[in-house]
Parts: sequence; C-alpha cells; structure tokens
Amino acid sequence: MRPHASSAARALLLALACLAAPPAAAQTPASGRPTRAPSSKAARSVPTPESVLGFQPGADFHLATYEESIAYFRALDAASDRVRLLDVGRTTLGRDWILAAISSTENLERLDHYREVARRLAHPEGLDDTAAHALAREGKALVDISGGLHATEVAGAQHTIRLAYDLVSGADADPRIRAILDNVILLLWPSLNPDGQTIVGEWYRANVGTPYEVAPLPRLYQAYVGHDNNRDAYMLNMVESRVVERTWRTWEPQIIYVHHQSSPLPTRIWLPPFADPIANRAPPLMSRTVNTIGMTIAQMLESREMPGAVHMGTGFDAWYPGYVDYAHAPESGGVLDGNRAVPLCDAALLHAERLSPESPPSPAGVSLPQPVARRLVASGRRRGLHAHGVACRAGLRRQVP
Ligand SMILES: [Zn+2]
Repeated sequence: MRPHASSAARALLLALACLAAPPAAAQTPASGRPTRAPSSKAARSVPTPESVLGFQPGADFHLATYEESIAYFRALDAASDRVRLLDVGRTTLGRDWILAAISSTENLERLDHYREVARRLAHPEGLDDTAAHALAREGKALVDISGGLHATEVAGAQHTIRLAYDLVSGADADPRIRAILDNVILLLWPSLNPDGQTIVGEWYRANVGTPYEVAPLPRLYQAYVGHDNNRDAYMLNMVESRVVERTWRTWEPQIIYVHHQSSPLPTRIWLPPFADPIANRAPPLMSRTVNTIGMTIAQMLESREMPGAVHMGTGFDAWYPGYVDYAHAPESGGVLDGNRAVPLCDAALLHAERLSPESPPSPAGVSLPQPVARRLVASGRRRGLHAHGVACRAGLRRQVP
C-alpha cells in the first residue's frame, strides 16, 4: 500500500516550484488551530515586507527580529484570505509562537478536514488500499517549511518572510503560484527558534557599523543548549523541541523542510542526498524520497542558472537519530539545507571573489562540479555585484583593527 505516493509527488513538484522562487477569534493552544476565523479580505492590498519592516528581507546590514517578522505575518494575515495564522504554543522565554498556513482560500476554509486526511494517512491502521488511495486523492499536500532552528544561521528566518509575501501576493497574476496554492497547504514557520532570532537580531543591530559588527554572540541563542537544540529529538528536553514535535504530529506534513546555513565554501547550498553513513533504521523509502527532493531542487536551481548546489560530502551524514529535523519516520520526507553562512553580505559575491575562474578550488570531500566555480564567478559579475561586495567587505573590515 502506498497511500502517500500521489500526495507526496504533488508536494514535491509543487513545493519545489515554490521554493525556486482580520477579525479576532479565540486562540486555542498547540493543536495549531486557527487564531482567526476566516473572513473576506479580498479588498485589501497585500503589504510588502519593506512596508512593514522598513527594509527588504535579506538586505545587507538588516536582520528582522522575531517580533518584526511576526508583525509582518500578522499584517499579511489581516490583508489576505490565503493566510491563516496558527497558534502553536510559547517559547522558553515566553514568546507567542505562530506558524502560517498558506494556501488557497478554499483550502483554508477546509483546513481541519485536510489535516484529518493527512493524519489518517499517516496512521493508516485499518485502512485498506482503496480507502487509502481515495483519501490521498481527496487530501492536499501538506508541506512544512521553517526558518531554521540555529539562530545565527540567519538567512532562513529572513527568507520565510519573503516566501510568504511571494506566494500570497503572486497568486492572482501567476498561474504557477495559483496551482501551488490549489494543491498544497504550506505550513510556514517564521522561525523554529523565535527567542534566538530576536537575540541574534538585537545583538547585530547593537553592533552594526561598529568594530564589533560581526563579533560572535556572547550568549546562547537557545536556552541551555545553544546549537544543540538540534540534538534533542530523542528526549525532547527543550520546550521548543516539544512544540515542534507536537505540531508535526498534529499535522503530519508529508514534507518537512528545515533551513540551515553551512554549505562548505565555495558552494552556495548543500542539499540531500546525505553523506554516509545513513541511519540503519531510516526507512529506505523515506531516504529515497529525501534524496529525490534534494536532487530535484538542485536540478531546478541549475535550470535557472543558479550554480553552487552540492550534496553528500563529508560534513552531513544522517546517522545520528536525535536530530529534530531528520525524522526517521516512514511517512514524512525530512529535508535539510545549508546555505553558506555569510550572513551580512551577498554570499555569491564573496564566494566569487575568492575564486579564480582559472583554478577553482576543490575542497576535499565536496562533490563540486568544476564548472560550478567558474559559473559562480561569472554569475557574480553578471549580476553587477562588485560594488555591492566592496561595501560588504568594507563592513567586514571594520571588525579588523
Ligand atoms: Zn544549522
């Protein structure tokens, strides 16, 4: 029985296409129920991120804190029937924690129904093949994307703001986005580590333009455990781990995509397949699905002349069973990615300027196609990023006495 085959395939194709690119109601707790009732907001225009934040997400020398990010998501929710904010709980430091369900208006009106379909398929005891396939056809693909749980890997939590805007604002004019929203219910977490996003954002803001602009954070961005918030899935000690686990088990998304930011230089993004060893209890079908998703993303990036994706290597195996974001469960495909961490400047340009087209480096253990390095250089120049990069470097130099 393969009740997930059709919905997973739809999720793969449509979510990847997406990646390439109100009146108050009673709040209910972590089940992820709506914090607002559906209402018609069609007449309101969709606010741009910069109209709320004062800068574009990802702009140099700016980082949105979690509060600023949520202010944007609330403004988006107030303006569009394609967004529904869900209350999932509270963080260790007491922040209200939300995720955004983004889909067509019709799908959001039946959100509880589609959640139940996904849950039934994820726990198929008693379902026969016919009923399972009928449910798979009836359901929508639930795709979960989050802004990362390592707060100093800043790109993810800035990206989720932009992704929400692109999907909600683009559906009227772009049939591709409309098709995504018709077939996919995106569960978009602004961040998996809200406390850390604000801690890092405020630290950076206090130091930007000073000699300490890129000084390391002098405290943990996750209470007690810092970076090891991604090693807690086997005992769920952290509040955040429990909220995430409960939410994923409440919704049973078929794809869970968690951002990281640590692709080895000179590459741009690391994607599955993982390096060996792979956990021996990971169901083979899930591993194959994760690998397929990773390669499909890379294929799409290549087709759009966005070089720099790599796979496997030596740094990212899938052996440890306690990662929050590599679920050794048969019903979901968990995906990690690592965008190279150059948080304050344009990574492509910095990479390009460290490379020579004639002698691209080949870091040990990195499966980097040789043409990629040359194309990184060409792409940085073609995009006219040189002056931008000089400004970046000037900013970085300020840290060096
Ligand atoms: Zn990370």
